Amino acid sequence: MNKNVERILFTEEQLKNRVSEMAQEINKHYKGEPVVVVSVLKGSVVFAVDLIKQLDMPVSLDFICASSYGSGTISSGKLIIKKDVELDVEGKNILLLEDIIDTGETLHEIMKMLKGRGAKSIVTAMMFNKPARRKKAVQADFIGFDIPDEFVVGYGLDYDEQYRNLPYLGVLKRSVYEK
Ligand code: 5GP
Ligand code: MG
Repeated sequence: MNKNVERILFTEEQLKNRVSEMAQEINKHYKGEPVVVVSVLKGSVVFAVDLIKQLDMPVSLDFICASSYGSGTISSGKLIIKKDVELDVEGKNILLLEDIIDTGETLHEIMKMLKGRGAKSIVTAMMFNKPARRKKAVQADFIGFDIPDEFVVGYGLDYDEQYRNLPYLGVLKRSVYEK
């Protein structure tokens, strides 16, 4: 285990099994209809890579880089789009992938934007859900795991751009960010 991780919440094996279950649920939902998968950079990339290999409908993949976090752990509640989707989403079924939903601000803003561009449908899949700090009600269609109100890293999630490569989800030691 990484020395800055206090404890592991989900092992690599548990994450893998849950992503497979989610893929089956998503396949059932779309019944072969084509989707545009929009992965929110950078955090959801690991989840996206694991998930799309198990989807059975025609899939196109795109990315959006929008965040409400800097290098700290508190959301400013403001969305900054650093990289927009490149595909035309009008009339398309969008499967929006997020690593984690915390306050809900990021997802709320991205959904609003995609709806405004005339997406036919928007379905959301989030690997982790932190319901304790929700500020905006969000449409959560597929959820990997609910987690407690703690700052987690690994499986794509970073602290100051580190730890995304950890294959498990762990709670970061408070001493790392409380200096
Ligand atoms: P929201 O807009 O829902 O408050 O925040 C969503 C984004 O905040 C996530 O995509 C993620 O980048 C970041 N975030 C929220 N909670 C955590 C956490 O516990 N760990 C990490 N690494 N990022 C988090
Ligand atoms: Mg993020």
